[in-house]
Amino acid sequence: MKIDFAKYADGLVPAVIQDYTTNKVLMLGFMNDEALKKTEELGLVTFYSRSKNRLWTKGEESGNHLQLRQILVDCDNDTLLIKAEPKGPVCHTGADTCWSEKNHKDDFLYYLEDIIRLRRTSNDETSYVRKLFGKGINKIAQKVGEEAVEVVIEAKDVNQELFLNEAADLLFHYLILLQAKGSSLSEVIDVLKQRHQPK
Ligand code: AMP
Ligand code: ZN
Ligand code: ZN
Ligand code: ZN
Repeated sequence: MKIDFAKYADGLVPAVIQDYTTNKVLMLGFMNDEALKKTEELGLVTFYSRSKNRLWTKGEESGNHLQLRQILVDCDNDTLLIKAEPKGPVCHTGADTCWSEKNHKDDFLYYLEDIIRLRRTSNDETSYVRKLFGKGINKIAQKVGEEAVEVVIEAKDVNQELFLNEAADLLFHYLILLQAKGSSLSEVIDVLKQRHQPK
């Protein structure tokens, strides 16, 4: 792999980190030759931190490592796209990506999944999500059942708006249930992909 470190005065090449499974853009960091070598050696994404002035293996304190999957170099060898599996929230704010709060538009369901995770652990006592998690898995599963029944009822009605609202309620509570089970939307999508036989 030929990388043009010399193009930059400080020898630091930008590295865009992308989620291997969801394709979300997770964070941006900088790598010198040494950081890239260490990334490959450890199988964990390692940057050169300009604020720390040293090599920084993401997750070294938090445990939220980025497991290396693939390294791609761009057309003129001066930027990196690194695909990785995050072992926890990537941003130091606790969000799953460094753009989480602002990037509502693409992959909204994944974004919502992240919001649910943040609400679950928040100390906001008025949070509906937090309260629901507090009631336990059986109550959450029951709630999904109730919303599903409401979808069935509205499916028989002519009011499209009511139907859509119940469909949204179901999807929302379904995401909560997945999380309560320690699972995630991308795992469900993987199962669907495995079943899918392209014709
Ligand atoms: P970590 O590498 O996850 O153990 O985090 C160590 C320190 O690096 C944190 O205290 C933050 O100062 C910083 N940090 C962690 N994640 C990020 C990030 N995604 N972007 C910028 N700084 C970060
Ligand atoms: Zn380039
Ligand atoms: Zn961040
Ligand atoms: Zn409902």
